[in-house]
Amino acid sequence: MAQDRRSSGAPPRRMQLSPAARRAAAARRRKRIRRNRIVFGLLVLALVLVVVLGVRALLAVGKGKPADTSVPDSSAASAPAATPAPAVTTSVDFTDARMILVNNNMGLPDGYTVETQVGDAATGKELQTEAAQSFAAMQAAAQLEGVSLILQSGYRSVEYQQGLFDQQVEKMIKTGLDEEQAREQAKTVVAVPGYSEHNTGYAADILTESYRIMDSGFADTDAYAWLVKHAAEYGFIERYPEDKSAITGIIFEPWHWRYVGAENAAAIQASGLCLEEFWATYGSAAQDTPVPESGSASADGDPASSAA
Ligand SMILES: [Zn+2]
Repeated sequence: MAQDRRSSGAPPRRMQLSPAARRAAAARRRKRIRRNRIVFGLLVLALVLVVVLGVRALLAVGKGKPADTSVPDSSAASAPAATPAPAVTTSVDFTDARMILVNNNMGLPDGYTVETQVGDAATGKELQTEAAQSFAAMQAAAQLEGVSLILQSGYRSVEYQQGLFDQQVEKMIKTGLDEEQAREQAKTVVAVPGYSEHNTGYAADILTESYRIMDSGFADTDAYAWLVKHAAEYGFIERYPEDKSAITGIIFEPWHWRYVGAENAAAIQASGLCLEEFWATYGSAAQDTPVPESGSASADGDPASSAA
């Protein structure tokens, strides 16, 4: 009999179960139904959540766009984030000799040569030819407004720089340092030969009649104020601004100006970047753009306080 039921596959008939077994079966059924209801309820809840979140996401994407975008804009979700770099002309030619970058980590290229001439007859200091002419024009323009500009220091040959550096090392050795320590200390005061911007011919240390000391006090003179306003017109940029010393590796030097040409100066000034940043942002990727490690800033090799 039992074997027949099994082979036929017919469901067991409840009538054959004892009342206790029937109650147990009913209880199991109720339990199963309850469980199914809970699972179903959870599924519905999950579905509602997905729909709500989906709608919210769509609304968020739609925000900030015209309200009547009936066609979903696929570009909205994948739009690139705003670029942090300011929009600056990319027409700057980084192979232009006037754009040369020299700093603590990047020395003059091998075989570097430059043509120079006197930029300030009163001091006899020289700059690269075009820079010298431009300085003279700037000096004359400032004079017309009653502002004196003095070219305190300009082009320095690598040999001259070597002399300055060696003198500084000697000084440090006399304070009791060994030669290696002395050289390290000297680097914080005088640039290593070939690593001073003055070796390029494009750097000008500019002072004024009433203030002939190369220190941060120059920033309080009318000459500095005039330069901030007009130097770019003559192709000069402030090279070592106070807020960029971690990037340039050089302390604030309000007297140190760098000739790059008027069109380049305008682009750099508009960018708000220092020369290292400008190179790193817009310079050719093919060229190495060493940026000094941030941290200790040193002097750029201007002999300290070389007053008249
Ligand atoms: Zn300088």
